[in-house]
Amino acid sequence: MNAYDDLMAFERQTQALAQVAGRLGWDQETVMPRGAGAQRAEESEAMEQMLHARRTDPRVGDWLAAIDAGRLDPVGQANLRHIQRRFERTNRVPARLAGELARVTSAAQRSWAEAREADDFAAFAPVLEKVVALKRDEAAALADGGDAYDALLDDFEPGATQAELQQMFDALRPRLVDLRDRIMGAAYQPAPLTGDFDEQAQMKLTREIAKTFGYDMARGRIDKAVHPFSSGSGQDVRITTRTSATDPFGSIFSTIHEVGHACYEQNIDDDYLLTPWGAGVSMGVHESQSRIYENQLGRSQAFTAWLHGRMSEVFGPMSIADTEAFYGAVNRVTPGFIRTESDEVQYNLHVLLRFDLERGMIAGKLAVSDLEEAWNSRFQADFGVTVDRPSNGCLQDVHWSVGLFGYFPTYSLGNVYAGCLMKALRAQVPEVDTHLARGEPAQATKWLAENLQRHGGLFEPKEVVTRACGGEAPSEAPLLDYLETKFTGLYKL
Ligand code: ZN
Repeated sequence: MNAYDDLMAFERQTQALAQVAGRLGWDQETVMPRGAGAQRAEESEAMEQMLHARRTDPRVGDWLAAIDAGRLDPVGQANLRHIQRRFERTNRVPARLAGELARVTSAAQRSWAEAREADDFAAFAPVLEKVVALKRDEAAALADGGDAYDALLDDFEPGATQAELQQMFDALRPRLVDLRDRIMGAAYQPAPLTGDFDEQAQMKLTREIAKTFGYDMARGRIDKAVHPFSSGSGQDVRITTRTSATDPFGSIFSTIHEVGHACYEQNIDDDYLLTPWGAGVSMGVHESQSRIYENQLGRSQAFTAWLHGRMSEVFGPMSIADTEAFYGAVNRVTPGFIRTESDEVQYNLHVLLRFDLERGMIAGKLAVSDLEEAWNSRFQADFGVTVDRPSNGCLQDVHWSVGLFGYFPTYSLGNVYAGCLMKALRAQVPEVDTHLARGEPAQATKWLAENLQRHGGLFEPKEVVTRACGGEAPSEAPLLDYLETKFTGLYKL
């Protein structure tokens, strides 16, 4: 198997270089000197060009053709599957189209930021029209006669189809809208936490909490950045957070979210280091880890009771003295326009809206010039609120401007997976609430590491979730049951 060994050695180097490129991005968002922007742009572009050249290197095609897949073990076959898929996809898109997409989306991101600042959708619409047209060309090239949207989705969630997701999401939407309505009309409305919270102390507390969830600081680190994110795989997985003197929950729960992503990468089997399957298998499965850490575990009644005690020690007496009211403050459902600031109940409604609108644009059924109107009327129907300006509506997310179509649904799929995984976790670790109440979520996250995270990309996304759930195929039902039970209790409905 000479060809296999050669391919593996080449791939390992590509993976190593990709990790270096990722670390340049981390550096740029955290510690890069302010004046280094132009040079860094050139450095990053050079790295991207080199990676693209390696990924489309004709030798990869020759090696793939020379390998007899039947003679490989399951790990070797998983490996080959990843390389083959990426190689075929990269080669299906003509180089000229790929280049134009890179150019147009880079400029479109700047136009989007300006249009959002000026609250002017009309200024951005012609640019977005260009992006959509190019994405439709790309999708057609990738789909090769199949479904165009599915071809885009495949980049983020291999194997998923819009038909399957639509069925799942159509079942979510009415029950979420109903739950939201009942919550908004409830007599009991929890009060928010108010006060002033020392930001240095917040950073210290987030480090402590990250460790309680199992984040290995010997192979990770936490820094401040404008937008929280996690980056890296294997032995170097870093996260960022932000702090606000008046909103300690922002820093605590975005840290727990990123810790979920980071633990997934840290807990992948050591043998998979720097291989194509040595990273999280899909965006949806990744988001299932961040969301189960953040919500099902982090925002649970048991864990917030512990958190209340710990925060009282760190910050002194708080505006909310009892754990019940504190649990309400952590989980408040309030009207709002912005997806990233949304609570657990409304979050998926934000995503479903985008999923339907972007499918319309890719299918050519929704013209970009009609997007703002379509967004606003759908928002009114699902949220009962009138969008007051584009920056609170269709201009709030960067995704479409940079050509990310097929990405949004993975956020909700992650929540659906998290619901399924929590059901399985509760069945197999019945004492989970006792651990959480003691501030020991690592007992729960250990189950996730053993049953899902360690596999990396060895299995297909849906398969790895199904295996962790004891053979039960994923569905939206556990997430809906969890949300209805939680919020019916919390809001005394
Ligand atoms: Zn995330």
